[in-house]
Amino acid sequence: MPELPEVETVKNVLLPIIKNRTVLKVDILRKSIVNNLEHEFIKFMKGSKFLNITRRGKFLIFHLSDNKVLVSHLRMEGKYYELPESFENSKYARVVFHLDNNMKLCYDDSRCFGRMIMADEASYQNIQSLKELGPEPFDIKDVALLYKKGQKIGLPIKTSLLSQKLFVGLGNIYVDEVLFKSELHPLTPTKSLSMSDWENVVKYSKLVLLEAIKSGGSTIRSYHPGKDISGNFQTQLAVYGRQGQKCVVCHRFLRFIKIGGRGTTYCPNCQPRKHPPLKIAIVGKIASGKSSVLEIFNKHKFLAISSDAIVHQLYKDKVIQNKINKKFNLPEDGDFIVNLRNHLAHHPLDLAKLERFIHPLVKNEITNIFETSTSKLLVAEVPLLFKAKMQNMFDIIIGVDINEENQINRLNLRDKEKSAFNKRINDDNHQFFEHLADLDYIIDNNKDKADLVSQVDTIINKVLSRLNQSL
Ligand SMILES: [Zn+2]
Repeated sequence: MPELPEVETVKNVLLPIIKNRTVLKVDILRKSIVNNLEHEFIKFMKGSKFLNITRRGKFLIFHLSDNKVLVSHLRMEGKYYELPESFENSKYARVVFHLDNNMKLCYDDSRCFGRMIMADEASYQNIQSLKELGPEPFDIKDVALLYKKGQKIGLPIKTSLLSQKLFVGLGNIYVDEVLFKSELHPLTPTKSLSMSDWENVVKYSKLVLLEAIKSGGSTIRSYHPGKDISGNFQTQLAVYGRQGQKCVVCHRFLRFIKIGGRGTTYCPNCQPRKHPPLKIAIVGKIASGKSSVLEIFNKHKFLAISSDAIVHQLYKDKVIQNKINKKFNLPEDGDFIVNLRNHLAHHPLDLAKLERFIHPLVKNEITNIFETSTSKLLVAEVPLLFKAKMQNMFDIIIGVDINEENQINRLNLRDKEKSAFNKRINDDNHQFFEHLADLDYIIDNNKDKADLVSQVDTIINKVLSRLNQSL
């Protein structure tokens, strides 16, 4: 979908082409594009001269002779271009304006979502969809007014900026860029933005949009603003479309979430979430002491849950047992867990299949438990966080590290079947080191209990400081 910079580019490219040209005749090839009756529109356009084009938000405003105005919205795929009269229309041509210089102005729209509305100079600004628009970002003089309006809005800042009611111009691409530059988490409630947050939002909106206009809009999908104009802004995007890649500023991995159905990419480190609840994952090697860390959160009365406990609970569910029995042809009688263990011992490759089934269920359970809690910190021990690709669910990831000697000692205390664990140690350690860049904090669990408590309490206080609180 073209955003404001693309529409601005269309305006700039189109104006010299059609300025002072008179429309001799119009062909309406798709009636739904025109908001008025066909014969009215033809009569309206015939003999009209294009005097100027302006832009309001993403609307193109064609100013015609006799105080007439044509309002046009390109929506998803609409585009204007000029062709000599002797050339065939493209198969997507919907409206064709024949001009007085042997050229025609074609409006193409493969999906036919675009609209054209007849109006006049005195009243076009009262068209409902134009009337609701906030000011142009370049016209904002009084940031305090935005701040005041924002105070009444509980929606996430991303949603309010997309609505175009506070000010126009930020679509899904540029809103992510502006929030990244403003160091604001996209879910931040609009009403909690400070005056200086708003100053940043306005400053970076102008900057990002101006840069995009300068480079002719971005080249998203097949969208071409006009002849010989190909934008190259997309290569400069810092976050949009870069989920899973590293942040250009801090080199942490960018996260991807949905807000109001819109895909949103942000950096969890440069745009830290500062409003409750903060969701914290605890990861680490096997026997590193994740449960002890979880227990410390629990003692401070924060919600603290363990994925292993959730899995155990799921395995008690008859429906789930039946599904797993069917999947692996397990016997219906006997102990479910014993049968499953036996099966996996003989079919180690089925472990991945089991995980593909169970991970989404665990994810769901954690989401449900988090949603019903009122705790400011929601903590989950998720040994398989990276394998199950659950990073996007959390704001903060804490890694628990331990050296191999201590790790083996602890495992020996737990279970003598060492050989079975050896492989898991390797796998686990590999995952841990591979994802170091995803960790916000690392706990070194090679000393005593008191040291562990002190490290965890320090982290809790750092996390709580985001909410201007402490233990
Ligand atoms: Zn970053």
